[in-house]
Amino acid sequence: MTRSQALEHFEGSIGRITASTNNCGLADQVPAKSHYAGTTTYEADISAKSTCTARDGKSTWDAGDLATGTVAATCAWTWPNPAGKNDLREADVRFNIADYDFTRNPTSTCNGRYHDVLNTGTHEAGHIFGLGHVGSGHSNLTMYTKADRCEVKKRTLGRGDVMGLRSIY
Ligand SMILES: [Zn+2]
Repeated sequence: MTRSQALEHFEGSIGRITASTNNCGLADQVPAKSHYAGTTTYEADISAKSTCTARDGKSTWDAGDLATGTVAATCAWTWPNPAGKNDLREADVRFNIADYDFTRNPTSTCNGRYHDVLNTGTHEAGHIFGLGHVGSGHSNLTMYTKADRCEVKKRTLGRGDVMGLRSIY
């Protein structure tokens, strides 16, 4: 995967949250926005143990080492906003390429080997915009805790994901 292909899927992942992309016919009522500011030498502020480190002021998506068992991780920093909901100041995402392989198109070539970038990224972007995990009984939602290799269903939000976003924004 090239850098530009990774970028395309990182942006696509964020876009699926900000556009409330879903198959339930639910309108996008979420005013959350993002904008790409370019490449950087800054790294995601997430350690190889998957813990958040000191924030550096740049929201960065990258790839590196995380704790085994963690496919990807998000660290988000928010400030209380007296006018309403918390303000998002920085959010970093790291994909664990030390322990996992990723692909852009798992359908014909996956064979139980790869995690889909957009599937993983959309879930992480959900964390950026304030969504937590949902538990058992909600395995079809993007914000379900676990992700299987070759899975693509998290690319598209479920009703519960959209309702969660609506409740935040
Ligand atoms: Zn998660």
